[in-house]
Amino acid sequence: MKLVLATHNQGKVREFTKMLRSGADTLQHIEVISLKTYPDAPEVIEDGKTYAENAAKKASVIAKYTGHLALADDAGLEVDALNGAPGINSKRWAGEDATDAIRIAKLLEVLEGITDRRARFVAAIAVVHPDAVPKGVLGVCEGHITHAPKGESGFGYDPVFVPEGYEQTFAELGEAIKNQISHRAKALEKALYCL
Ligand code: IMP
Repeated sequence: MKLVLATHNQGKVREFTKMLRSGADTLQHIEVISLKTYPDAPEVIEDGKTYAENAAKKASVIAKYTGHLALADDAGLEVDALNGAPGINSKRWAGEDATDAIRIAKLLEVLEGITDRRARFVAAIAVVHPDAVPKGVLGVCEGHITHAPKGESGFGYDPVFVPEGYEQTFAELGEAIKNQISHRAKALEKALYCL
């Protein structure tokens, strides 16, 4: 069975591929394909009101286009002191073409002087078969935002996010630990029932 990962984010492709490869024996017959195999795949506009809506839209478009089972996620960082922002706008809130470094700089700037650093990553995953109704699940990882970026691993806000129960950022903890405890790992565990 082929499973297309409906994302251009290579950080996510790396995480999903590793997590699926290290999963149960029953998953080993799944051939994981990235969108690099489909350079002309349609771009999906993420205009949903929820993570789940965006994930379902991305996976549905790619399942239809490729004719294979597709998996997509939509994730965001919710900061308590910012009333849950940037949340569903985590990618765009520092500008359309912002880099991860610019997003992190903006986050640290708006949190300057704020002592309540509690935050969480939320991920929705949708698994869609071309002929079936989309199935969606949610994963959450609680933690807090640091005062400066630390670590080189991962992507996005990883250098400033310390998951609950740890003292290092996702970027310092590395992929192996992140892939056991992250929002995406938790959502994927639930999504695997759909597979
Ligand atoms: P999207 O799911 O690609 O829309 O991601 C929204 C934003 O959240 C992007 O800026 C990502 O870099 C960031 N993001 C999503 N998942 C993670 C993660 O696991 N670690 C760090 N940043 C993430």
